Formats: sequence, structure tokens, C-alpha cells
Amino acid sequence: YTQAKSLVFSQYGEPEKVLKLHTHSISPSLPPSSVLLRTLAAPINPADVNTIQGTYGVKPTFSPLIGTSEPSVIPGNEGVFEVVNPGSSSSTLSKGDWVIPAKTGFGTWRTHAVAPSPSSLIKLDRAGLTPLQAATVSVNPSSAYRMLRDYAADPPLREGDWFIQNGANSGVGRSAIQLARLWGYRSINVIRARSTAAATEALRAELAALGATRVVTEDELQSRAFRADLAAWTRDAGAPRLGLNCVGGASARALAKALAPGGTLVTYGGMSRQPVALPTGLLIFKDLRLRGFWLSRWADAQPDDKARTVAEILDLVRAGKLTDVPVVEVPWEWDTEEGVLREAVQGTLEGFRQGKGVFVF
Ligand code: NDP
Repeated sequence: YTQAKSLVFSQYGEPEKVLKLHTHSISPSLPPSSVLLRTLAAPINPADVNTIQGTYGVKPTFSPLIGTSEPSVIPGNEGVFEVVNPGSSSSTLSKGDWVIPAKTGFGTWRTHAVAPSPSSLIKLDRAGLTPLQAATVSVNPSSAYRMLRDYAADPPLREGDWFIQNGANSGVGRSAIQLARLWGYRSINVIRARSTAAATEALRAELAALGATRVVTEDELQSRAFRADLAAWTRDAGAPRLGLNCVGGASARALAKALAPGGTLVTYGGMSRQPVALPTGLLIFKDLRLRGFWLSRWADAQPDDKARTVAEILDLVRAGKLTDVPVVEVPWEWDTEEGVLREAVQGTLEGFRQGKGVFVF
């Protein structure tokens, strides 16, 4: 028997209240198609916290599968695992391979997992990768990649074109900055000012080093002077035709105002919890297009495209062209206490953080 531990919740609520650490054993007599996995690293993403709070757009399925006293959910959508037992001899996997879940909702916050079949997993070429890199590739960089490539219409973004994004310091935002640099797009990046001017300048410099063309604070974006700055910066190539909205509220409104006529505002996050409300004129006179992006919809509908996108991104990581997002490692040893794991999850939505929390096993 393999001894395993999982974080679980059986009712919605704040993570510090509802998350529990559940110990169970995995039988050695598994169905032949299934694959036994050991977790190497699993990030804590904002969507995971929303799922636990019960505020996320899709609801998970509560199940008694791992023997909890009440039906429960194992949170976590992203992570990298090592194959411990590939299952039947015809398995496409071998012991020691690194895999990520093919679909969302896998439940990655656990020491071990049993995947129903090799086809529920994507095998990675692990050469030259750290577990942290492999664990954080499928959500943030993939989202940035798809939004930059698929959402600016008539025509798609070309070299020299501008786009604008808020939440530029997020995992998605940092990926977008770096991909844009590789593809020759120019970016206007909106950040929240830090508590001191020096800290704000340091963040500005950090994003510029990643490839950000311009970095502005929310206050600068929403100031009167911004219109003139934008016009000056984009005089040759034209105003941004794509806006990536991570935040909502006043910030989203300011992004929309910065877009060229016929431009597209893609909303993928709602960190401010404020609705996207726009002046009517932006729709009538500028004919802006409002779209939503949801990675799961794309990835679950096109698993082969997901595997291709992930492989391409990992090549960029190996080549040093895409650097890691700042992370705060949360070591998860056998004896790590429930409270330590719970607190790491609870802090996720607080903002102004040193980096994304990642469980490391
Ligand atoms: P990170 O944990 O890396 O970063 C969170 C970001 O949110 C930080 O940059 C933080 O800014 C910002 N933030 C936090 N609170 C606020 C606030 N009140 N107002 C404005 N900004 C705030 O996040 P991810 O990159 O993983 O995710 C970012 C967003 O994108 C989330 O909403 C997530 O759910 C969403 N997302 C959506 C996907 C989809 O498919 N639709 C896929 C991936 C992510 P600061 O640096 O100033 O603290």
C-alpha cells in the first residue's frame, strides 16, 4: 500500500476554515489502465481559491473516492507528477516520466494520485527542467500565449503592434510580456503602485527587464495625461488593438478607452471583484469587441493543441527565453502540518505578494 495525503474540502468557505489534510492508502491492486503518480510540485492559483470559496464559475464534483467521511473535493488544477507505476505493460508511460494533467479539475494538492489512464496525462520532456518550471507551465504561460495569438482579429497582432494589459505583474501578465517580446509585439503594462515610490520603480524596472515596452501604474493609466502619452507612443503603429483584462472595474474601463476602434478587450480575470462596465460610446462609436477567455474551455476542447502549446512553451523555458515567475515555495513533507498548508492557500488572494505559492514535495 502507498500512504498518501491530500488537501480536501467538503463544503465551500475560506480555505483556512474548510481545508483539511486527509490521509489514506492507495491499494497496490489498481485497475490495469491506471497510473500511480507522485507529486513533485503544484501551484496555488487564484482560481483554486475561488473554487474552494464556491465563487468560481464552475463547481467541482464532491466525491467519496478517497475515503473521506463526507464527499469532498481535492483542489488544485495544475502540477507536475512523476510516474511511480505506469500500469499495464502497454502503457505509453514509463516509471520516472514527468506528466501534467491533460484536463483541469485533476486535484493536484496531494502527495500521490492515481490517474485513470495514460490519456488523462500529458508526458513532458523533462530534460533541462525543474519541477517548478514544469508545474507552472500549463495555466499562466498557456493563457498568455493563447490570448495574444487568438484574440486580436482582422488581422492578428503583427510585429510592432501594441497591446495593453492590466495585472501585468501577475503570472499571466509576466508571461504575456515575455512572449510579446519574443514575437515582436509592444506592450503597455499596468501595475498597482507599491507602498513606496522606490518599490514601484523596482517593479517597473523588473518588468522592463522581462521585455515590457511601457509600464504604467493604475493611477497613471487613469490620469488625464495618459491619453497624450498613449498617442505619442503609438503614433507610428496605431493604438492597441488588444487589451488583456485581469482586473475589471475602473482599470478595465481605462483599458477599453485606450483601444483602437474595433479593438478587442479580453477579460480573463476579475481580481478587483468589480464588474466590467463601459461607457456606451465605446461600443457605439468605437465598436469594441468584448471577449472572455477561459483556458479550461480551450484546453478541454483541444487537448492536442494544449499539449503542443505546453511543449512549445517548455522549449522556450529550456532556452532561457521565458523566465520563471516569482514563487514562494511551500514545502510539503510527510509531517507538514495541515495549518501550514492551509495558510499558504489562504494568503493567495491578498495581493502585493512576493510570488505565487507552490507546494513542493
Ligand atoms: P497571480 O497570483 O500570479 O497574480 C495575481 C495578480 O492579481 C497580481 O499581479 C496582483 O497584483 C493582482 N491583484 C490582486 N488583487 C488585486 C486587486 N484587488 N486589484 C487589482 N489587481 C489585483 O495570478 P495569476 O496570473 O495566476 O492569475 C491572475 C488572474 O487571472 C486571476 O484572476 C486568475 O483567476 C486569472 N486567470 C484566468 C485564466 C482563465 O482561463 N480565464 C487562466 C489563468 C489565470 P499585485 O502584483 O499588485 O499584487
